Amino acid sequence: MKMKKLTFIFMTSLLIACSSQKSTTLAMENFDYTVDRFADIEILRYRVPDFDKLSLQQKELVYYLTQAALEGRDILYDQNNKYNLCIRRTLEAIYTNYNGDRNDPNFERLTTYLKRVWMGNGIHHHYSEDKFVPEFSEKFFTSAILSLDSEVLPLEPGEKPEDLINKLIPVIFDPTVYPKRTNQADGVDLIKTSGNNYYGAGVAQDEVEEFYAKMKDPNDSTPVSYGLNSKVVKENGKLVEKTYKVGGLYSKAIEKIVFWLEKAATVAENDQQKDVITTLIKYYQTGDLKTYDEYSIKWVEDLNSMVDFVNGFTETYGDPLGMKASWESIVNFKNIEATKRTEIISSNAQWFEDHSPVAPEFKKEKVKGVSAKVITAAILAGDCYPATPIGVNLPNANWIRAEYGSKSVTIENITEAYDQASLGNGFAEEFMWSDKERELVKEYGALTDNLHTDLHECLGHGSGKLLPGVDPDALKAYGSTIEEARADLFGLYYMGDKKMLELGLLPDKDAYKAEYYRFMMNGLMTQLTRILPGKDIEEAHMRNRQLIAEWVYEHGKADNVVEFRKREGKTFVVVNDYKKLRDLFGQLLAEIQRIKSTGNFAEARSLVETYGVKVNQPLHTEVLERYKKLNLAPYRGFVNPVYTLEKNAEGKISDVKISYDENYVDQNLRYSREFSNLPTFN
Ligand code: ZN
Repeated sequence: MKMKKLTFIFMTSLLIACSSQKSTTLAMENFDYTVDRFADIEILRYRVPDFDKLSLQQKELVYYLTQAALEGRDILYDQNNKYNLCIRRTLEAIYTNYNGDRNDPNFERLTTYLKRVWMGNGIHHHYSEDKFVPEFSEKFFTSAILSLDSEVLPLEPGEKPEDLINKLIPVIFDPTVYPKRTNQADGVDLIKTSGNNYYGAGVAQDEVEEFYAKMKDPNDSTPVSYGLNSKVVKENGKLVEKTYKVGGLYSKAIEKIVFWLEKAATVAENDQQKDVITTLIKYYQTGDLKTYDEYSIKWVEDLNSMVDFVNGFTETYGDPLGMKASWESIVNFKNIEATKRTEIISSNAQWFEDHSPVAPEFKKEKVKGVSAKVITAAILAGDCYPATPIGVNLPNANWIRAEYGSKSVTIENITEAYDQASLGNGFAEEFMWSDKERELVKEYGALTDNLHTDLHECLGHGSGKLLPGVDPDALKAYGSTIEEARADLFGLYYMGDKKMLELGLLPDKDAYKAEYYRFMMNGLMTQLTRILPGKDIEEAHMRNRQLIAEWVYEHGKADNVVEFRKREGKTFVVVNDYKKLRDLFGQLLAEIQRIKSTGNFAEARSLVETYGVKVNQPLHTEVLERYKKLNLAPYRGFVNPVYTLEKNAEGKISDVKISYDENYVDQNLRYSREFSNLPTFN
């Protein structure tokens, strides 16, 4: 499994903060952050501050890149499950055309189900990856389809509405069909038990592992990201790759992406950026992973452009083997003021590497090009929509990171929306031990949370090295949890260092305690609000957080560093000794770096399975009950702003306008109309 730096540091905390620096610069009066609420989801809107301050050429560039971002939408649906496009189109046809009673509870439940499908980019939950349980009846579904003009249904040639119904009913209603999108459970065939569409029918895990092992040359110091942009299928008993490219799999969507990228290239800010875009186009046209690496290097070296983007098959969280990447895009521009903070961190990267508690043989002698900036997202798409990461660190290829560095970003207009929507929601009152912790978090929570993200992305993922000859995929299914733990611990360890005060990154010697407390409370207890009763923890970032919190709790027990305390039958996390807690973070960082550097699969597995997976059942039940009373949505997604080209009398582009008034349903229906590029089955 490849090293997964990236993304997906989803906001775990529901901050109560506050009037911190960043909120005052960003918060806007009368901006309605909350857009929709259904199931376990709240949909928010984010602002794009300073879009108006971009030049016309930059705005135009943003516009073309946002179009390129939206054109890839169908790809992700198909990657997540082969029936997803069919189901989405069928449900949208019902939602749009149904002439029966729209107040019928069955119709309302179908609407909720459709909203969940948009949120998950398919029939599985975006986070738990469990298949949704529909609350409308099979009978209603059948009669609703039969009531429609068959013209509006996504029928295959020769197919009748009855065939469509028979095809979809098991996929939607039978809980044993595709129960899980990405299965990470130990000891079973991860491909056969996963509902996603990265591998064709009858393809087994051991076959795929052998297939790719044969391709890899252990002496290649600049290996391509094998398998990144293809589906593996069986043809005549043999495995073959179907590559995502123009003329290959997903061609119709990729052609549109290329169309807009070509326009973007004409308004690039400089030649370097133009070269980045044209190299990406070349990669989409050829599917050649060497060209992808070439593009990644050019992209990581382009640090001067104001506007930037991610567009492509990028993150491999969705593949249980961690090779195949889901399609995603983010378009953004630099937040100049906030970027000063990350520049301080980056310019001291070598100091941090040299002083970390990791054994010298696992440290980088020279940390290269850890660039970092704070960005303002202009559009979220593919695997970044509606749920989005708040930080990104790319590219993923280890050797490119080692040789050329990586680009790390914190998306501050998204964190701002989270913070603003969380003001005074009762969470801190319910779960924090006392006013002392609440005051700390109120005062420093937003600041330290952003700083932890910066440290995680700019330094954590870029730190350390593998010993010569160690396979970067040696930790297999445990690789991403270990990698995230490494990055989180690097940030946690340094957050409590006096260097933070010296560099002016924290205003007070106690400020770090806000993040420590929140991290421990979340890892030991409150993140369980996202787990269904009786389930284990599966997602890599959640496993990582529990692993860290449980490990330091256990290892600090003798000294009572962190404890669970009870009050009126409720459990609380209390940190008694912050200094010792920091030492424990340092010890675990050294341990995890050693496991990573030596590629010790057995130890990685033991650490993750011992601390990161199993849930404390009675505590879980208690937390769910308390959380339920708060009536909060555990997950959040976003709607995008809408960009419109304005033209003058001669038909020349005179401005790009941004507006924030589209709701969740209208946006998704519009995207399905305007960016519906792929056949229903691919
Ligand atoms: Zn990370």
